[in-house]
Amino acid sequence: MNLLDELRAAVGAAQVLEGGDLEAWELDQRRRWRGRALAVVRPASTAEVAAIVRACAAHRCAIVPQGGNTGLVGGGIPDASGSQILLSLQRLNRVRDIDTANLTLTAEAGCILQHLQQAVAAQGLLLPLSLAAEGSCTIGGNLATNAGGTQVLRWGNARRLCLGLEVVTAQGEVWDGLTGLRKDNTGYDLRDLYIGSEGTLGVITAATLELAPQPAATLTALAACATLADAVRLLEGTRARLASALTGFEAMGRPALDLVARHYPDLPRPLPGAPWTVLIEQSDPEGEAPARARLEALLADAIDAGLVADAVVAESLAQSRALWRLRESIPLAQALEGANIKHDIALPVSALAEFVAAADADLQRLIPGVRLINFGHLGDGNLHYNVQAPVGSDARQFLAEREAEVNAVVYDRVASLGGTFSAEHGIGALKRDELAARKSPVALALMRAIKSALDPAGLMNPGRVL
Ligand SMILES: Cc1cc2nc3c(=O)[nH]c(=O)nc-3n(C[C@H](O)[C@H](O)[C@H](O)COP(=O)(O)OP(=O)(O)OC[C@H]3O[C@@H](n4cnc5c(N)ncnc54)[C@H](O)[C@@H]3O)c2cc1C
Repeated sequence: MNLLDELRAAVGAAQVLEGGDLEAWELDQRRRWRGRALAVVRPASTAEVAAIVRACAAHRCAIVPQGGNTGLVGGGIPDASGSQILLSLQRLNRVRDIDTANLTLTAEAGCILQHLQQAVAAQGLLLPLSLAAEGSCTIGGNLATNAGGTQVLRWGNARRLCLGLEVVTAQGEVWDGLTGLRKDNTGYDLRDLYIGSEGTLGVITAATLELAPQPAATLTALAACATLADAVRLLEGTRARLASALTGFEAMGRPALDLVARHYPDLPRPLPGAPWTVLIEQSDPEGEAPARARLEALLADAIDAGLVADAVVAESLAQSRALWRLRESIPLAQALEGANIKHDIALPVSALAEFVAAADADLQRLIPGVRLINFGHLGDGNLHYNVQAPVGSDARQFLAEREAEVNAVVYDRVASLGGTFSAEHGIGALKRDELAARKSPVALALMRAIKSALDPAGLMNPGRVL
């Protein structure tokens, strides 16, 4: 049998898509890369995934796993050869178990993150992983990219929330590593190898995740700071006073919010003109009244200390949602403004202000008029330091012609201050050369050894990461 016939036998002919309009799977989220698949295959069970991988291994055909296709580094679409199988996990979407006593959720890889948040909320529980793409990204993709998001400062990233995994290996075997245990020191941690491996070692088919009780009250505030250094000092003070109730601390530079105002004029902008706007989220086990009193006192003291020029605390859930929408609309406004050079960097929070001042100056010297759209998860040191073409210039041309030199300036500065060039989005195809150039030879040799041990034929998402 040829490969496509074997795949049809494994999942049914209707779930092997070839020809026709496959743009939803072949075009990446940023509309930057377009691949071409031999076929898109849509299994609905772990056994079907295993059968597909075994068939592909027998025919030496490469596989590209894909969840919600919201990745930003070109890692989840096929290459242009027309010879790779696009393995869509979207139909693998059952919640297998919610264990309220053990505070765990076991769900299949294709479950949409937001659906999982809703499923556990219905039981009074919280899945503390939150990102702007949560309405479309999948939990399998979140784990394959070790996603971060807005609550990392309190709960850690996807890796920290994952207790167990089920994986189809590159040979088509099923490794059942699903467990709700917090402690298990029985040999090498295979789970951590697959998390963040971006589909290059195997296919994640299900996961067990740690949950938390829903907080009694969640409050959102905005604060206006004159400088990024002030915002970092505000973070220090807020952490000290709110402790584990601090669940979000996002920073937004004025140019970022100016773009939002231009493209989403109906969104309110409570603190116009602030050089830096900070969004604080407090999730409290106490009731709303004491939580609000704590937050308001904290902000009043920050105003008295000159760290904050002005602040607002949302009065209702609707107001809170509107404040979050400001933050979440920045990448969307940037996309509407035109192609841009994205950086997903992290530094020690103590080095962020120095980095931004130095990198801003370097880039303005290199490209006068360049627009620096800075925003991000300040609470964990992760900044989206994005570079938009000067007003009036061609955005696509800017991206094509200036990306390499802009990256060199930004990543050299990041490295000199002890940071990383990829904090959240991963390596994919976009940052593969950067990884090769910037990781130590020892780290690269270890990564290659792991890749060749787990995927000796090199069929799992080839050309990505390494
Ligand atoms: C508006 C917006 C906001 C975002 N915000 C954040 C953010 O705050 N933090 C953050 O970390 N990311 C963010 N992202 C990036 C993206 O949403 C995350 O990387 C997300 O985790 C990808 O999930 P996905 O299901 O869409 O994966 P895909 O895009 O489908 O795939 C991503 C990678 O994972 C691999 N993969 C997918 N599923 C599996 C699987 N089951 N088994 C093995 N490999 C698999 C793919 O091969 C690919 O390499 C954002 C993206 C957008 C568009």
